[in-house]
Amino acid sequence: MVKHQLRARGIADKDVLAVMGRVARHLFVPSPLREEAYADHPLPIGEGQTISQPYIVALMTEALFVTGGAKVLEIGTGSGYQTAILAELANTVFTVERSSALSSGAQRLLRHLGYENIQFVVGDGTLGLPAETPFDRIIATGSLPCLPQGLLDQLTVDGICVLPVGDRSLQRLLQVKKVGSSVEQHDLGACCFVPLIGKEGWSS
Ligand code: SAH
Repeated sequence: MVKHQLRARGIADKDVLAVMGRVARHLFVPSPLREEAYADHPLPIGEGQTISQPYIVALMTEALFVTGGAKVLEIGTGSGYQTAILAELANTVFTVERSSALSSGAQRLLRHLGYENIQFVVGDGTLGLPAETPFDRIIATGSLPCLPQGLLDQLTVDGICVLPVGDRSLQRLLQVKKVGSSVEQHDLGACCFVPLIGKEGWSS
């Protein structure tokens, strides 16, 4: 997976490659799909949701530039796979999930794997997590119709967020950097994520 899907497609960050090689992705997919866990596509994880394709996880993580001291907000815990990748690289990860079933499943697995730097929250992550603000990094693993100002406000100066923005069926993956009082936006390409349902997301 690391060699053919990530390195070959231009993922170069050594820490991201190492972590993607280390975290056992098969533990995060339903048992009947374990043999496909390292394949080059997303997989269903229950509740109508999906675990992202390995390349997309790597691309988003690389674009997030997570450093050891970082406090990260993840919107959309899902299986907890992206959460584990972030927790390996960051100081603390706050992860918000709308489905309490998915959140408790991920929490059980990640605690079992020994992660102690993850805080799990059930709620509408499109509003961010005002009680824990500010964050050095914010990542959304579901799509948004536009970039919520409220999320930008929860980023530190020099903070970075990575999120898919667009319509229901197709989005652009954006890296947004806060530079003082202005914002720099980089388009990382076309993508197709499940929707984030919430106040700043989709209505259903
Ligand atoms: N990163 C996950 C993939 C998550 S798919 C993984 O590695 O498995 C997107 C997730 O966002 C789904 O689990 C969905 O339930 C959740 N979601 C949808 N709307 C949300 C919202 N408003 N706030 C938080 N999570 C939301």
